[in-house]
Amino acid sequence: MTRVLWFRRDLRIHDNPALVDATQAAWADGDGVVIPLVLIDPHLWPTWGAPKQAYLIDSLRSLDESLGGNLLIRHGSARDVIPAVAAQFQAHGVHFAGDYTDVGIARDDAIRTSLTDMGVEFIQTGSGYAVAPGRVTKDDQTSYKVYTPFYKTWLKHGWRQPAADPSRWPIWAAPDTCDGYPDRPDVDFALPVAGEQAALDRFEWFLENAAAHYNENRNRPDVDGTSRLSIALKWGEIHPRTLLARLDESPGHEVFRKEIAWREFYADVLFNRQDTAKDYFNPLYKQMRYDTGPDADARFLAWCQGRTGFPFVDAGMRQLNQEGWMHNRVRMVVASFLVKDLHLEWTRGADYFFDKLLDGDVASNSHGWQWTAGCGTDASPYYRVFNPIGQGQKFDPGGEYIRKYIPELRHVDNKSIHEPWTTLDGLTAGYPAPIVDHAIERHEALARLAELPKGAQKPLYPQDT
Ligand SMILES: Cc1cc2nc3c(=O)[nH]c(=O)nc-3n(C[C@H](O)[C@H](O)[C@H](O)COP(=O)(O)OP(=O)(O)OC[C@H]3O[C@@H](n4cnc5c(N)ncnc54)[C@H](O)[C@@H]3O)c2cc1C
Repeated sequence: MTRVLWFRRDLRIHDNPALVDATQAAWADGDGVVIPLVLIDPHLWPTWGAPKQAYLIDSLRSLDESLGGNLLIRHGSARDVIPAVAAQFQAHGVHFAGDYTDVGIARDDAIRTSLTDMGVEFIQTGSGYAVAPGRVTKDDQTSYKVYTPFYKTWLKHGWRQPAADPSRWPIWAAPDTCDGYPDRPDVDFALPVAGEQAALDRFEWFLENAAAHYNENRNRPDVDGTSRLSIALKWGEIHPRTLLARLDESPGHEVFRKEIAWREFYADVLFNRQDTAKDYFNPLYKQMRYDTGPDADARFLAWCQGRTGFPFVDAGMRQLNQEGWMHNRVRMVVASFLVKDLHLEWTRGADYFFDKLLDGDVASNSHGWQWTAGCGTDASPYYRVFNPIGQGQKFDPGGEYIRKYIPELRHVDNKSIHEPWTTLDGLTAGYPAPIVDHAIERHEALARLAELPKGAQKPLYPQDT
């Protein structure tokens, strides 16, 4: 009797409760055999950009190595493949970690029904979160809609220690029916090294070199001051519990813990409001006047290409296009710029981000966007209009971040680099003039807010704060 371990967004072998469970069950069955399985969905796969495909292939290869080269790769839809694999290997059970999106829940329910009919167990153990979505609630069992009270209850709730490795590893089966890896597309920039070991190494680097000053440096895109573990967390190459277990009460560690909690908060919000993956958390904002048409499209294109004429915004967009990642502070600034300076709907930006980001995650992306757009969980919503020049001056004071991504501005001195149009030779190397006037657009954004029905200007759920 065999066990199948279905890897999804948990591409690691350590601190992996589903792996521990499958292993224990396999040894209890007698033979200790576990088939490690990964699915490539042919409908989903082509919708991903080349960087994401290449990164995932690298990560699977790394996982495969940890499994002694025994990873079974199958191409097909989960609803067909999982029952077929269970039948082929006469599996006793299929083990996996929970997925809390509506699509994932529906898929898993359908598979559970098929497997139950076949007499095969379908066993969910753990999730990609320290505390699974839906667990942190108010006293009346309703969910939180504001971060700070969620955070306090999340802390009180606590989480388990990292799962210990199995005392006896399973016998990974090496079936000869693997469909093989998809072709790895060429990517014209260096991807981060994928896989569990790279994530653990980066975390050690972070603890030794950056965590103590994380509270001071985390907003500085010109400093390598954050963990850069979002990609590894997205693919489950590392578990947040592994991170939390190493943190103490020092200010740097405490702020880092709070950031991990933002990821948990957004997953919880999405779990309770699945519609907000694409739709407005505060529906009143649907009525906001957004710009559409050819001019709006041209401004959107300038934003995507990093050619708005605002250096801090453009550096961020070019970082995204060139690396598949962007610093958090800059994500907020470019998102605010799209919605409040260009008056475009947040969903356009969120789709572009999701397509490009290697860490693209529905909950963090949609709610990061909605927070910035004012229609999300921010407790002081639309009035927060980031100044794209001031933000650059404050968080990239020497202009190093801008110079790194915008070669046309490398010759400009620190004083002018955030406003290159104010100096004689600022735009001589081909960098564009600003496509809008921030002061005017800020007023316009606030005017459009004032047009909304009464109540849109206030936080949706002030009682939480
Ligand atoms: C508009 C917008 C879109 C975003 N889209 C995504 C996304 O698709 N995927 C994603 O993982 N993050 C997203 N974020 C959150 C954040 O920008 C990234 O998690 C962070 O920049 C990753 O860098 P890091 O790993 O060095 O973070 P660190 O500063 O080292 O933080 C540690 C971890 O905490 C979590 N975290 C930190 N800040 C946030 C936050 N504001 N919201 C949620 N989780 C957070 C991440 O998992 C991160 O890896 C978005 C933020 C905004 C404003």
